[in-house]
Amino acid sequence: MYDDNNIFAKILRNEIPCKKFYEDEFSLFIYDIAPQAKIHILGIPKIKCIDLTDFVTKADDNLISSFFKSLNLVIEKLNIKADGYRVISNSGNDGGQEVPHFHIHILAGEKIGSLR
Ligand code: 5GP
Repeated sequence: MYDDNNIFAKILRNEIPCKKFYEDEFSLFIYDIAPQAKIHILGIPKIKCIDLTDFVTKADDNLISSFFKSLNLVIEKLNIKADGYRVISNSGNDGGQEVPHFHIHILAGEKIGSLR
């Protein structure tokens, strides 16, 4: 079940501060508080969903499409297309997910190491 008290839910409700990079009606993109690369942005859709599969199950097509178009826009704004980047989403215990609200990580600005 979705936990209304997770950190990203609080950020979306403006209960705790964050450094915003981009925001629109459906999504919020913020700087990660503990960056794992020179550029580390989190993309968070504004819908109560736990992980990727929950997002795709619960969100309507318009929101799913909007979220990924916003991701594309953020990639353009970050000017990382030419050098490359990594987008990941952790899910559940084995995936190493810490915050149980679906989000994607955009890592860039340097060579991103191997996944293991
Ligand atoms: P996960 O492991 O769930 O995929 O990633 C959660 C991410 O959220 C981590 O990279 C962590 O640094 C970041 N994070 C945790 N708390 C906060 C916070 O309060 N503000 C921001 N901006 N990022 C956070």
